[in-house]
Amino acid sequence: MPLRVLSVTSEAVPLVKTGGLADVAGALPAAVAPHGVEVTTLLPGYPQVLARLGRKRVVHTWDSLLGEPARLLGGMLGDSPLVVLDAPSLFVRDGSPYLDPAGRDWSDNWLRFAALGRAAADLAAGAMVVRGKRRQFDVLHAHDWQAAMAPAYLHWGMPPEAPLVPSVMTIHNIAFQGWQGAEIFPRLGLPREAWSVDGVEYHGGISMLKAGLVTASAITTVSPTYAQEIRTEEFGMGLQGLMVARSRDLSGILNGIDAATWNPESDPLIAKNYTARTLSRKVANKRALEAEFGLEPGKGPRAGGPLFVVITRLTWQKGVDVLLEAIDHLVGLGGRLALLGSGDADMEARFHEAAARHPGRVAVKIGYDEGLSHRMQAGGDAILVPSRFEPCGLTQLYGLAYGCVPVVARTGGLADTVIDANPAALAAGVATGVQHGAVSYESLVAALSRTATLYGRPEEWVRLQRNGMAADFSWNASGQAYVELYRSLSR
Ligand code: ADP
Repeated sequence: MPLRVLSVTSEAVPLVKTGGLADVAGALPAAVAPHGVEVTTLLPGYPQVLARLGRKRVVHTWDSLLGEPARLLGGMLGDSPLVVLDAPSLFVRDGSPYLDPAGRDWSDNWLRFAALGRAAADLAAGAMVVRGKRRQFDVLHAHDWQAAMAPAYLHWGMPPEAPLVPSVMTIHNIAFQGWQGAEIFPRLGLPREAWSVDGVEYHGGISMLKAGLVTASAITTVSPTYAQEIRTEEFGMGLQGLMVARSRDLSGILNGIDAATWNPESDPLIAKNYTARTLSRKVANKRALEAEFGLEPGKGPRAGGPLFVVITRLTWQKGVDVLLEAIDHLVGLGGRLALLGSGDADMEARFHEAAARHPGRVAVKIGYDEGLSHRMQAGGDAILVPSRFEPCGLTQLYGLAYGCVPVVARTGGLADTVIDANPAALAAGVATGVQHGAVSYESLVAALSRTATLYGRPEEWVRLQRNGMAADFSWNASGQAYVELYRSLSR
């Protein structure tokens, strides 16, 4: 019998994605399957999810789930089971998974994601009946605040006869906590004891993430360094005390990348496939990218200076405001910049201004474009990730795989996955990128200068690219680590 895990998430590729969480939740089932673990994924029934579900097989029905009619539909996510929470009043709407069409949080996000948690707890404890038998799960795995009420309901909200199901709470970003007003507490259907400093209460209101963090059997986050950082005031976003208190149950497991989707040798989305041995073919991707962005084309393989790329949400976390200040320096070094991103309107406007100031050298596309993100990794020389904090980060991992050298801040998963090209690492031949310290104009400018110098030494540069491409950030090791954790909890 495989170990059965219920993975509860608000997004998963290929069905719905707003960020790295979707990549990870989508890849997890296949990452652990070789180790005898079957992951069933529970997703909200957004329109795009329902549309891809095919025949609707109802596996459970509630007349009222926190006041809303809802049912569970069965399906498949790749080769693994999928269950969709079909509650049209909560999830079938225009807009994004979290935001209304005007870009504001849905005012009933608390209800939408409390319902997801309630459904998850019921499902884990055996709500689903398959061939006359209750299907229980061995472990519930909740991702981020949107799923964090699931461990809370398992802990406080189950009838006495319900089986005990251990839970894992994974923090993909501790900055997003699902804060709600105290007035919703009576509607969550939790006992009074849940309202305390050791419960869902947080500064007079409710933190849904905290509810999961105090009740989960184990807590993980997505890199070892971030697992340390969130115990400190600078990175804990108010939850550092709780993270210290739960240190024994807290660990960091790096995200892997899905090698079937992110492999320059076979990627169907890029102009020309290449490997570490045929890196010269990467130039065709660079030329294509220059044309697509309207950048001044280089002539030889290295002409036109290093082509820096950025693929990101445009928010304070990502340090893009500091990058804006450093753009003149980047251009002054002979570099060029292609940016793909969306987010803060002010930041979007400022990048457009920078592009207008440096025609042919700086180009910007505002929006979300999966295919273009592949073409940028394939065509770019270096990817900039100047994040103020970064739980794991995926774009630097894709950069490593594509020979697009990562230039990153030394924080979280960026610190754990990129080996800085300092003299010792260069001498040992192990460097894979460039790291800089605390995100500031001075540190970023110094890193850009160092990158341009390395780029000017072709042998060293190719070594960096090849080292990165040889690094293994597949799901092998991380899948194994999750499996060990699941097994330790289910004993
Ligand atoms: P986060 O989850 O904080 O946004 P990650 O680096 O963990 O950051 O994951 C971001 C994911 O979203 C990556 O797969 C990245 O390629 C993708 N991404 C971010 N912005 C865009 C965009 N504008 N267009 C396409 N893909 C994007």
